Amino acid sequence: AVPIYGVPGTAKERTFIAVKPDGVQRGLVSDIIGRFERRGYKLVGLKLLVPSVALAKEHYADLSSKPFFAGLVDYMTNGKAPVVGMVWEGPAVIKQGRVMLGATDPKAAGPGTIRGDYCLSIGRNICHGSDSAESAEKEISLWFGGRGEVVSWASNNDEWVVSDN
Ligand code: UDP
Ligand code: MG
Repeated sequence: AVPIYGVPGTAKERTFIAVKPDGVQRGLVSDIIGRFERRGYKLVGLKLLVPSVALAKEHYADLSSKPFFAGLVDYMTNGKAPVVGMVWEGPAVIKQGRVMLGATDPKAAGPGTIRGDYCLSIGRNICHGSDSAESAEKEISLWFGGRGEVVSWASNNDEWVVSDN
């Protein structure tokens, strides 16, 4: 069986993508989901939640010494809007997910990327994506630990989307 965090380097590679509270508040959930869906990536996990402070701190543990950490955790957890957490599956989805999001600072994000198309400020950059296989494993396990929360399924489009001939 495929572990919930997928198999990096294969068509079963998985990544954690989130629409942050500003993206939800601004009505960008469907656009962000649609970009991944239309490209051919497969949705295998989806939930709406206000994350706990403990979850947000663990998710961003690498940044705990940064001056913006307290504000970042508050932004993610204060409940002014929820977060949409997702697991997406497909070839190179970790790397390509990051490419589709665009640069962390939207002022440097190119047009055609999610951040480049919809936002302006590093503190309100509307989306998250795992930055490596190690991060994807950690983040999928953290946000989707529960039984059955990540679903392996065969799409009828698979043969039209994934092939090296
Ligand atoms: N962040 C911030 N101020 C900064 C740098 C980062 O508020 O000066 C926030 C921003 O929401 C960013 C998140 O911290 O998306 C995580 O930072 P990271 O460097 O991991 O960027 P990402 O992986 O999200 O592109
Ligand atoms: Mg990051």
